[in-house]
Amino acid sequence: MPTPDPTVPLPIDLRSDTVTRPSAAMRAAIAAAAVGDDQYGEDPATNQLQERVATLLGKEAALFFPSGTMTNQVAVRVLTRPGDEAIVSRESHLGWHETGGVAANSGVQLTEIGGRGVFTAAEFLAACKPHGHLLHPPTTLVAIENTHNRMGGIVFPQDEVGQICAAAREHGIASYLDGARLWNAAVASGRPLAELAAPFDLTSVALSKGLGAPGGSLLAGSRALIGRCVRYRRMMGGAMRQVGIFSAAGLYALEHNLERLADDHANARLIGERLAASRRIVLDLDTVQTNILVFGLATGAPDSAEYVARAKERGVLLFAFGPHKVRAVTHLDVSRAQCEVAAEVLVEIAEGRAKPVASGASTT
Ligand SMILES: *Cc1c(COP(=O)(O)O)cnc(C)c1O
Repeated sequence: MPTPDPTVPLPIDLRSDTVTRPSAAMRAAIAAAAVGDDQYGEDPATNQLQERVATLLGKEAALFFPSGTMTNQVAVRVLTRPGDEAIVSRESHLGWHETGGVAANSGVQLTEIGGRGVFTAAEFLAACKPHGHLLHPPTTLVAIENTHNRMGGIVFPQDEVGQICAAAREHGIASYLDGARLWNAAVASGRPLAELAAPFDLTSVALSKGLGAPGGSLLAGSRALIGRCVRYRRMMGGAMRQVGIFSAAGLYALEHNLERLADDHANARLIGERLAASRRIVLDLDTVQTNILVFGLATGAPDSAEYVARAKERGVLLFAFGPHKVRAVTHLDVSRAQCEVAAEVLVEIAEGRAKPVASGASTT
């Protein structure tokens, strides 16, 4: 195995695509943003971004939020009532990464179905509970996560999406797309964003993940539904003022950082192929469809806490997802050369062949 290239800058931060920092050009766009009071609808950059995202997603309207967690929380709040049930994929962001928000904010219980972050229309129908039943909580919402974060950036099969949302509509059940990384799903599948979002009542997208903006997410849907979201955004404390500072970054990102997501996918693939070749790493390459790698550490490899610590010593930053499970995410602030080095380091550590950091490495 070749020695990792000592000229490649460290650290190589693969913890998340949220660690990306605004480039000089994005900062220039932020500095030039036309702003106003967004709660009066007077922030030009935000109005422009909302229109742009609505058009991209094929919806009537879109609304800016500070975070994707808040778009998720408001979507569930608007589409359900306390005591309702929402059906979600296994290990959904809604259930696992929002500190119990849907229970606290909406009084909704979540039922997880399927496997590997996806489920079928048949599985959905089998889990649905009728409205007005003596015993069951009424199922009023189905949420799909595309791509699926904890399951390794998997793209939800679009044919199944269509069937699930059609079945939902037939049963008076609302549908929500947690599309924090919908951009990645569009690039990986070659399908337009509007096609991916079409079956859903509400769709969210994030600016702060692979697109590289400093913050912000949007909800998109019918004018009537988005109108209702305005109230809950305010209720949850997410209505802000000169939001154009963020929206300008989002507009810049949509212009410059969308198509290049294919590079992140290729880099994740490169890392994935090297990891999958090691007997000490458990990784199904079929799950490496976008920019996220979630892999297991086999018997003989360190546990994830030790693995992450050793990788850090070598200048590669990762996120432990379980006792023997690790996540690595590629993004616009890691180059192909850095991903090549990271792949070598990650295999070496799994196989117990770790060496000290090359002394010539810079630490920028
Ligand atoms: C990151 C993410 C969100 C939102 O996260 P924030 O950090 O609150 O912006 C929502 N859903 C998924 C699937 C995500 O990966």
